[in-house]
Parts: sequence; structure tokens; C-alpha cells
Amino acid sequence: MDLARRMDRLGTETAFEVLAKARRLEAEGMDIVHLEIGEPDFDTPANIIEAGAEAISQGYTHYGPSPGLSDVRERIAQEVSATRNISTTGENVVITPGGKPIMFFTMLALVDEGDEVLYPNPGFPIYESMVRFVGGVPVPMRLYESKGFNFDVEEVASQVTPKTKLIIINSPNNPCGSVMSREDVEALADLARENDIVVLSDEIYRRFLYQGEHHSVASLPGMRDRTIILDGFSKTYAMTGWRIGYGVMPLELVEPISRLVTNSVSCTASFTQMAVLEAMNGPQDEAHNMVAEFRRRRDIIVQGLNRVPGIRCAMPKGAFYVFPNVEGTGITSREFADGLLEEGGVACLAGESFGEYGVGYVRFSFANSAENIEKALERIDRFVAAKA
Ligand code: PLP
Repeated sequence: MDLARRMDRLGTETAFEVLAKARRLEAEGMDIVHLEIGEPDFDTPANIIEAGAEAISQGYTHYGPSPGLSDVRERIAQEVSATRNISTTGENVVITPGGKPIMFFTMLALVDEGDEVLYPNPGFPIYESMVRFVGGVPVPMRLYESKGFNFDVEEVASQVTPKTKLIIINSPNNPCGSVMSREDVEALADLARENDIVVLSDEIYRRFLYQGEHHSVASLPGMRDRTIILDGFSKTYAMTGWRIGYGVMPLELVEPISRLVTNSVSCTASFTQMAVLEAMNGPQDEAHNMVAEFRRRRDIIVQGLNRVPGIRCAMPKGAFYVFPNVEGTGITSREFADGLLEEGGVACLAGESFGEYGVGYVRFSFANSAENIEKALERIDRFVAAKA
């Protein structure tokens, strides 16, 4: 069958491919430690599951409004207003099946053929994939290890052109675990205002912060009306499979983005929306405990990796990933990731899965038990020693 030409421009998220390969090896009898996929290994808290089940039995099983149930939109707006120190309303919120569709819909709504979009690189692969798919021109904002995996403000300023339509930021960052400083957020806001650029601020890892503070670009003067905040419940409440996230955006974007929802998925499951109402209103201890446990695992994996000859691993400030430099091992990051899975029994992702500036690095997720992380570290050590 002849596929449409646009499909050549659509990339993917390697994590799902590596997961499938790791599962095949497991089916053949190999023991694999999974450090490839970005999802908490915890169960969704019981109160949220009960609220979801209760909502199903109460009949929240029908179509709902495309932008989401109004009570849930309102509650999300309260949460976002309080945590970002801005004033927003339920009218500004569009609920989607996961935070991911907000990326796609934002670009479909804003980016014309030839428009340029600045995006973090290394960064979440879907940004570049989506920009290309909609006919835009992806312009990588390089994140430098020497700057704590942050961009160089002057370099980014030099990349802005009259065609720059959108800048995507992601703090805390996947895959690097870096967190943008207040100064960098301010500099970026200046650029956006001076050049009339919209900002998509992916804040999905906001609650996974181990050091420093989270600064939302939307809270800076004049920025609320040119920023789309992307957030959701997948990571914070271990709800990846429920598929629910949202965008908070200027009113003029709400109708077009809701129309994209109508044209694609119609709406987000109603009982899932009721479950996240409980997630926001109920006790937060499980979400907090999960972050505390991730901090402990972060320390174990960073220390362990830095003991392996040829590996240099920076301490992530947020999210649940480490992005060590493996150049010193003498093999490429691609050979490292493939070999470590096939010979060593540890699944991770080659840095190039996150863009060209990820070459030389690999990403491990530490959303796995401390015991499994220790097991992986022993295997990594053995794998690297065998390559030396
Ligand atoms: N943004 C980033 C940076 C992510 O890593 C992910 C998931 O891996 C998402 C957004 C989307 O998550 P979801 O669609 O499950 O809400």
C-alpha cells in the first residue's frame, strides 16, 4: 500500500520499540531489567482507582464535552492558578487523553508550512516528530552538559528569525533531568515577547523536583497570554494507562484546540476525568512518597554509574531519568544501548533517540525498584568491563 508522503516525516518514541524488543527477549527466556520506559513503577493510588470505578457505576460512561467536564476543568484551573501563581479559569483548560495530544494539537493549530519551531535537543522525541509532520521546520535548542543540560541563551537568541512561531520548553527535562533557572526562563520570556512567539511549556514533571524550584514561564508578566502549559496526571499519580492530561492556554486557542479534539478523539473518557478530580482533591501522600522514593533511587543510580570506568553521570534535579555520558567507554551510545540489552540484560535508550545532540549519552529511567537498579548497575559494570 502506498502511504501518504507525510508519513515519511513522522518519527516515533524509541522507548516503545525498545520495550517491545526487551519483551521479545524475555519471551525467549532472558532476564531483563527495564530502565527504558518513562513511567512510575507504582500503582495508581487506591482512592483514585475507587473514584474511577465509582464513576463508571454512576454512569460516567458516555461522551462528554470535547474540552472536558466543566467541574474538572475548573478544578484543574484552580490547581494551575495556585501552583504557577497565575490567574486562570476553567475556560482556559482543555482536557485530553494524556498530555501528549496537547503537543500535536498545539502544532496543528499554530504551525504553518515553513514556520520554525525551537525545541530542546536532547529532548522528548515527539516534539521534533510533530513539527516535521505538520510541515514546520524544527530548530534544535541545544542543551549543553557543561551548562547542567540547559541551553545557551545567546545561542537561542541567534536562532530566532521572523519565521519563529513557537518555542517548546520542558522543565524538568526528559531525558536530561535538568531544571531551567529563573534567569533562563526570564530570558526566554523576553525573547518570546520581543519576537511575538508562542511558548509551549511542557511541565509534566513539575512535581518530580529534587533540587531548586520550578519556574513556570506562564507566571512572568505578559506570558500567560502567549503560553500553553502542558501538564497531566500520568506521572504525578502513576496514571499513564488512564490517558489523561491537559493544556492551559489563552482563550483564543481553546476553540480551535477543542475542535481538534472533536475531530480526533471526541473527548477524554468521562470516568477518567472523575478519577482525577479525586486525585487532586484527595490525600497527596502517595504522590509525595513516590517522589521521595525516586530521590533515593536517583542517588543510587548516579553514584553507581559514576563508579563505572568511562561513564560520567550528572545529578538530575528533576524528572526520573539520568543521562550519562558514555563516550569514555570506547563504544558508541547506539552500541552501548543495543549491546547492554542483548548481552547485558538491561534496557535503556541511546541518546540519539532524543535528537542529534544526544549522541554519546544514554538514558536510564530510575522508575524501577532500588533492588532492580542495583542489579542493573552490576550488569552495566560487567558489560563495560567486557568492552574495555
Ligand atoms: N511530556 C514529556 C516530556 C514526557 O516525557 C511525556 C511522557 O513520557 C509526556 C509529555 C506525555 O505524557 P502523557 O501523554 O502520558 O500525559
